[in-house]
Amino acid sequence: MKTPFCNFDLKTGVLCPNCSQLIEKGAYTMLDFEISRIFLNMEKTYPFLEKAVYVKSIEVNGLLIIILRGISEAYRGLLRQVEHKISRLNLLRRYKNIRIIIDKGDPRFLVEQLVSPAHLVSYTVVWFPDGSSEYVFRVKLSDMRRIPLPLQVLNNALSKILGKPAKIAII
Ligand SMILES: [Zn+2]
Repeated sequence: MKTPFCNFDLKTGVLCPNCSQLIEKGAYTMLDFEISRIFLNMEKTYPFLEKAVYVKSIEVNGLLIIILRGISEAYRGLLRQVEHKISRLNLLRRYKNIRIIIDKGDPRFLVEQLVSPAHLVSYTVVWFPDGSSEYVFRVKLSDMRRIPLPLQVLNNALSKILGKPAKIAII
């Protein structure tokens, strides 16, 4: 897996001065480093992870979302297995729920993975008079109970992932 950290650090668990800078500057966190190490170990069992690119991980209310790039949707089933395996690691046991999602640069695709098996009807960016904006993702009322996460947690997670306010609207 391509990660922001050098392989030597990932193997030894000790950050070199260059990689330490990434964390000191706030570009990444120690959690990113630890999860990158975990993925490196998983490559032996799951070779498809070798081509993946680690983007970042975010934590919201006991939920851990790990974002990867460069993985085909065909690996969704295997990613579920990886989620299951890493959730049993001591280091990640504190999370109630771990989700690995694939980023293709499309907000819709990202959110669909988190609301599934509920279906995302549409999304828009709503602009406010002060120039700020927010993402609104629409899910049908009849589908709402199929969303696997509490709405408030999901809204917080989406805002963190997308870098601006985001919410699920029920229609
Ligand atoms: Zn390094």
